[in-house]
Amino acid sequence: MHIQNQENSWGTKMKKIFEIISDKNHEQVVYCNDPSSGLKAIIAIHNTILGPSLGGCRMYPYKSEDDALVDVLRLSRGMTYKAAISNLNLGGGKAVIIGDPNKDKSEVLLRSFGKFVDSLGGKYITAEDVGMSVHDMEFIRMETSHVTGVKRAMGGSGDPSILTALGVFVGMKAALKKRLNINSINGLKIGIQGFGKVGYYLCGHLKDAGAEIFGYDIDQERLDTVIKEFGVKPVENDELISMDLDVFSPCALGAILNPESIEKLKCSVIAGAANNQLEDEERDSKLLQKREIMYVPDFVINAGGLINVANELQGYDKEKAKYQVEGIYYILTRIFDYALTNKISTLEAAKLLAERRIEEYYHWNKK
Ligand code: NAD
Repeated sequence: MHIQNQENSWGTKMKKIFEIISDKNHEQVVYCNDPSSGLKAIIAIHNTILGPSLGGCRMYPYKSEDDALVDVLRLSRGMTYKAAISNLNLGGGKAVIIGDPNKDKSEVLLRSFGKFVDSLGGKYITAEDVGMSVHDMEFIRMETSHVTGVKRAMGGSGDPSILTALGVFVGMKAALKKRLNINSINGLKIGIQGFGKVGYYLCGHLKDAGAEIFGYDIDQERLDTVIKEFGVKPVENDELISMDLDVFSPCALGAILNPESIEKLKCSVIAGAANNQLEDEERDSKLLQKREIMYVPDFVINAGGLINVANELQGYDKEKAKYQVEGIYYILTRIFDYALTNKISTLEAAKLLAERRIEEYYHWNKK
């Protein structure tokens, strides 16, 4: 009787998981359980049509296993779009480790995760994400070669934020050209939310280009640094959103754009590094389109970090990676043209073009 019940409940659960992973066409989801190290992780491979799936590993104290699953499914799918639109021969994948990075992380746990990554034979390549560091990647590297984002001395590409910031800078220029028909940033007013790693390097490019930079960071030390080094004019978040700006650049938080904040915006362009800037993708991208504010899709403009680590796979060449990141300008120009021609939002255009690349490649390779 007991076994019967167990079989029934297993049957029900299996069906539910297959329904969930089929919903957005994920190829494979791997649950990694190692009681000896305390590792509980999920690796999600969304799509490998263009190549092996690459995406960071996030360590986070998820409230439930369901929360962890939802996150890894969402993030891995996002990586498929990001790699495809960036012209990389990579698919989308992501991993999450359930646990508090400040308390639960250890060499044993990281190496155990590395063994699971290795068992997939290169179908999933891991990298750094929230709650993980370059140092952590080195422990993972002890068990598998399918890892990127290790330090320069180990053949890695180092800090990805430098090229992410470059991508945001060229993406901003592409949007300004299309929206305002201007080639120069000189004298323009740019508002940045968040002067972390990306925000800091972005300030360097903008200062060199002659922009007037405004912005805010909840971390006073970071704010003081950019005031001192780049002459940033500090303004609180609320004021920043409703300021008369040429560009608003979210480089801190997700879900910053919603009906309430969109209503207040007075900028012409939104171009920032933060992931998932729109609270509701469909609703908010259309609201921005209606207000004629050019939204630069986050997964396209912030792909510099991915392009950077992807270059490790062929032997890292900094100049080549930089050249590819500069190509974000042309990728975005194509997206803006496609959106205008088809009267759709820039987000929809970016997604359609990414899907089209995968579909075309699939058919081209089909025997
Ligand atoms: P970071 O953690 O170094 O910087 C984030 C900054 O935002 C911090 O200085 C923090 O104090 C500030 N911040 C937090 N809450 C804030 C608030 N309410 N108002 C103003 N500032 C606030 O992160 P990062 O590496 O610079 O990345 C920035 C964003 O870009 C993140 O959303 C990240 O996911 C995304 N991103 C980063 C990379 C990369 O290569 N680093 C690549 C792709 C996407």
